[in-house]
Amino acid sequence: MVARRGRLSGASADSFGGYRARLVEALRAKGIRNLAVLKAFAETPRHLFVPAAVRHRAYEDAALPIGNGQTVSQPFTQARYLELLRLRGKEKVLEIGTGSGYQTALLGTLAGQVFTVERVRSLAEAARQALLEAGVRNVSVLVGDGTLGWSAYAPYDAILVAAGGPDVPPPLLQQLADGGQLLIPLGARGSQTLTLVRRVGAEFRQLPVAEARFVPLIGEHGFDA
Ligand code: SAM
Repeated sequence: MVARRGRLSGASADSFGGYRARLVEALRAKGIRNLAVLKAFAETPRHLFVPAAVRHRAYEDAALPIGNGQTVSQPFTQARYLELLRLRGKEKVLEIGTGSGYQTALLGTLAGQVFTVERVRSLAEAARQALLEAGVRNVSVLVGDGTLGWSAYAPYDAILVAAGGPDVPPPLLQQLADGGQLLIPLGARGSQTLTLVRRVGAEFRQLPVAEARFVPLIGEHGFDA
């Protein structure tokens, strides 16, 4: 499943701009400083990525249910994630765990190309639709086991895993470019340490960043379903 897209166009004409501005202020108040990241939140229509039942809460700084027992993460958590990657606009990024597609859209405004993998087909299809509706055109969506990565487009300048696994899946290390970085919550189900992995040649340097609580990464190099 592939949704090609460019920079966002769907947010400018809606009536949620004031809510987005308040969300951006909340993120700034909590310490988010990266202007490109704040701009991405100001421009990305989160209401298009959440189910109708919770659309009235779309611009709260809160995780929201998206079906299949999954959630779209809290915007503050996503903003910290995105700040840590320090994207400059031209990178090729792999995201594991598309979920609603909201973070994929944020990545789309911050990077050159985004490849995203989601194991739950219905979520991947809804995300693809939302990305199209939001006018996001530089994203490709794959249904599959993200612990295997997406080798066809490797190597990636950055890899972002939005679910918590026991270890870094070896295929993701293999698909990370030299000089690239990978963010993944590592640990047990329900309690992990957000970990930044930097590749320098054949060496992988791990840096623990913060405590985290993500849904489990399910797959060949993750947890059992
Ligand atoms: N960042 C997403 C958003 O903006 O909506 C939320 C991601 S949600 C916290 C984690 C997602 O990872 C879920 O949709 C789950 O189905 C997915 N997931 C778990 N294991 C996976 C795997 N092995 N491959 C791909 N997706 C996986």
